[in-house]
Formats: sequence, structure tokens, C-alpha cells
Amino acid sequence: MALKVQGQVAMITGASSGIGRASALQLAEAGFQVALGARSVDKLEAIAAEIKEATGQEAFVMRLDVRHAEEVKAFVAAVKEHFGRIDLLLNNAGLAKGVLPVVEENDTENWDAMLDTNVRGLLLMTREAVPHMIEGGNGHVINLGSIAGREAYAGGAVYCASKFAVRAITDALRQELLGKPVRVTTVDPGMVETEFSVTRYHGDQEKANAVYAGMTPLTAEDIADCVTWAATRPKHVNIDAIIVKPLDQAGAGKVARR
Ligand code: NAP
Repeated sequence: MALKVQGQVAMITGASSGIGRASALQLAEAGFQVALGARSVDKLEAIAAEIKEATGQEAFVMRLDVRHAEEVKAFVAAVKEHFGRIDLLLNNAGLAKGVLPVVEENDTENWDAMLDTNVRGLLLMTREAVPHMIEGGNGHVINLGSIAGREAYAGGAVYCASKFAVRAITDALRQELLGKPVRVTTVDPGMVETEFSVTRYHGDQEKANAVYAGMTPLTAEDIADCVTWAATRPKHVNIDAIIVKPLDQAGAGKVARR
């Protein structure tokens, strides 16, 4: 159960869709003031309207491409300026592009997109946000990892590498921040039905639907529950990691289909 939070500010990357959108709504319902970042500002504005309808609060909305250091700096500075503090960073922006074996990938832009967004973007956001948390005496970095950060699979070399990196960064950061008032958590889901597979298959909805055929995947709300639960524990409690899979999934590629 989420405990009610007052006067704290949560910054959510990739808030325009899926897990980021659901987490923004649930964190707002738990009492956080929320700042929403992603490239699709029109979608962010629609979500801000939903948050207003559900909670009465005005969410902060700003374009953010986590791959670009200048945009990250401007976003974090604007959130600090707007709310006066930053308590939570949900490093959720991320994507997979393609499922090709390494030797068959001709378009290294797919690799760049995954590494720049999932790893470099997360690092840039963390570097900008954490000093404000330390200064404010309270903070929490929640990273969206994946079970792909715990076991690799064929066709997922670079996506898995990016999520292994997220786990390494989470573990290192937890040690670096020991003694500081900043918690560090990774939430590592299995299959969640969002826009993730549509993006992975370059917009092919049929291929994306096939990923979840005959099984019951997790929903974005299931993951938002995990995020919000970790975020609303008492301040002395650090949830290091949450691994969550559908009942129909026992590992990468190990899926019960009916
Ligand atoms: P999604 O519905 O496709 O959402 C991805 C979000 O990331 C979108 O809001 C997108 O917004 C944002 N994003 C992508 N590139 C960005 C960039 N350069 N700068 C800022 N925002 C960016 O997918 P999702 O499933 O919710 O994914 C969220 C996270 O969960 C990802 O890190 C993913 O790896 C992780 N995850 C997903 C699953 C799954 O099965 N779905 C499983 C494990 C982990 P814009 O396009 O508007 O920028």
C-alpha cells in the first residue's frame, strides 16, 4: 500500500507513454508533485490533464530528450526553479530497437539509440538531479531496469547490455551515496504490454501483438504500483531491487502460451 506523501517532487522521464505515464499518475495520486519529461509534448500535456482531473494538481511539463546533455540540464534546472526542490527521479525513458543477432545488424543507429537513451541518458539525468536531492536533504533515484539486465537472450545483445549497465550503475550509485539521504532502487520487469514492442519492431503492430499472444502480460499500472510502493516506504527503508514478471513468464523467452 502507498503511504501518502506531502510536499515532495517527482521527476519522471519517458512520462508520455506506458510505465512512465502510469507512474506519473500513481505518484501524483500518492501526493507527489510531478514533473513530466519526454519528446512528445502533446502526449505529456494530455497526461497532465488526466492528472489535473484525478488529483487537482498542475503537473510540470517540458520537452526532454535524455540523450542530450543540454536538454537534461535545462529540464532539471527548470524543475528545480518551478518547484524549489527535487525528491525523486524516475529514470524510465528507454527503448529497444530491433531483435537482430549482432552480426546481422547493419544499422548501428539502433545500437546508438538504445545505449544513448537507456544508459547515457540515465547517467546524465542522475548526475544533474542527485546534487539537488543531497542539498534538499532527501532523495530517491528509481531506475527502470529489466529482467533483460539479469539474463541475456539471442537478438537482445545491445538491449540486454544496456539493462545490465543500468543494474551496474544502480549498484555503484547505491555505494557512492552511502551515508547520504538518497535512496537508490531498480525495478526490473519482465513482459509489460506498452508501446515498447511497437517501438522495438519499428512500428509493426502485428509483430508487437504477437509478443503477447496467448499469455497475460503485466500492465504499465502493475509496474507503477512497484515504483510507487518503493517511493512511499519510510525514508530509512531502501528497496534495492524489485523483480516482477507475469505469472505466465519464468524468464526471457520462457513463456506459457495457451
Ligand atoms: P513505452 O510505452 O514505449 O514508453 C517509453 C517512453 O520512453 C516513452 O514515454 C518515450 O517518450 C520515452 N523515451 C524514449 N526515448 C526517449 C528520449 N530519448 N528522451 C526522453 N524520453 C524518451 O515503453 P515502456 O514499456 O513504458 O518502457 C519504459 C521503460 O521500461 C523502458 O526503460 C523499458 O526499457 C523498460 N522496460 C519495459 C518492459 C516492457 O516489457 N514493456 C520490460 C522491462 C523494462 P517519447 O517517445 O515521447 O520521447
